[in-house]
Amino acid sequence: MVKNSTIELLGATGSVGQRIIAFIENNPWLKLDKVCASERSAGKRYKNSVDWVQSTNIPEEIANMSVESPDPKNSDADIVLSALPSDIANNLELEYATEGLVVSSNASSHRMEPDIPLLIPELNASHLELVEIQKENRKWDGFIVTNPNCSTIGLAIPLKPLHESFQIKTIYVTTMQAVSGAGLPGVPSLKILDNVVPYIESEEEKVETESLKILGDINNRIIEPASFKIFASCNRVPVIDGHMESVFAILESDITIDEVADALRNFKGLIQHQNLPSRPKDLIIVRSEKDRPQTRLDRDAGSVRGMAVTVGRLRGWSKNTIGFSVLSHNTLRGAAGAAILNAELLKAKNMI
Ligand code: NAP
Repeated sequence: MVKNSTIELLGATGSVGQRIIAFIENNPWLKLDKVCASERSAGKRYKNSVDWVQSTNIPEEIANMSVESPDPKNSDADIVLSALPSDIANNLELEYATEGLVVSSNASSHRMEPDIPLLIPELNASHLELVEIQKENRKWDGFIVTNPNCSTIGLAIPLKPLHESFQIKTIYVTTMQAVSGAGLPGVPSLKILDNVVPYIESEEEKVETESLKILGDINNRIIEPASFKIFASCNRVPVIDGHMESVFAILESDITIDEVADALRNFKGLIQHQNLPSRPKDLIIVRSEKDRPQTRLDRDAGSVRGMAVTVGRLRGWSKNTIGFSVLSHNTLRGAAGAAILNAELLKAKNMI
């Protein structure tokens, strides 16, 4: 039987923090035993500090926990899950790692640093090789791993089998991103209801650069990013959860739609550890109906709720180009579930 590892959660009252609390409740490997947030919340019971927006109740054992201020010198967690705003995460995560703690972060602060893994376990678990390099470079006993931006995750998963089978030349992607991606309290209703906002700060750069790091290879202790180009246009749309992305891919090889559908459907991930509790069996669901995926109908897809991505509307344009839509749950697959899956991977590899 696997022994539970203890979790300290930073940013526990936010949009991602709440999702982590709800998602981890019945996890057989991980046990949440400390919740932290800002000075605004510290000292209060969790249930009195949080504006809970999940459809399930606050788990009883969490509701009465006292919220603490993050304090790297007084942490003894097996792993620290960070759901902090990036400006706060920047120094605080470094302090935790300096104190010898292992951090699995949702924040963008350290994602693109060359010795910090940017992980999607099914795609690039081998990038954990960077952890030893990170420890050597920084002379610390702890370490940081990160998960990608929520739109990057939904895009990178189908790009992996596409690139392996047909070598990608160029990707054009237009995202339609849910409001929960903006955290709490989020986008004011007067700015998003009856509206589409064609700008999300720094989002396009994240999608364009993070995907290439994830799909890159480690050579001589350095990640060489994948060499194709991505051009992203990011939009905020009035849905609560679920990022839809409309993708146009130019490939090196000639393809048929059936070949692409098979490559996507058959890709179960490169990860060796089959038994991670939050790993979906059906990583990429390919739908053939002419009007799927749809955000409301498909965002919770997967053998583990919300952890699969759904691809549909596969259509060819010329012999080496293809268009498709991909939908992923931004706060499950794209945030809470991603950080938890990373923690499970570390546990399976005896790194925590
Ligand atoms: P959020 O809703 O704004 O929550 C922020 C959390 O951080 C709250 O718990 C807040 O506590 C806490 N916090 C703020 N300032 C703090 C401080 N000085 N010290 C300690 N705690 C502090 O943000 P979010 O949407 O959950 O996002 C969290 C992180 O995940 C961000 O870096 C974001 O970019 C990333 N991310 C989000 C998504 C998504 O879909 N939402 C997806 C991927 C990645 P109080 O309640 O006490 O203020």
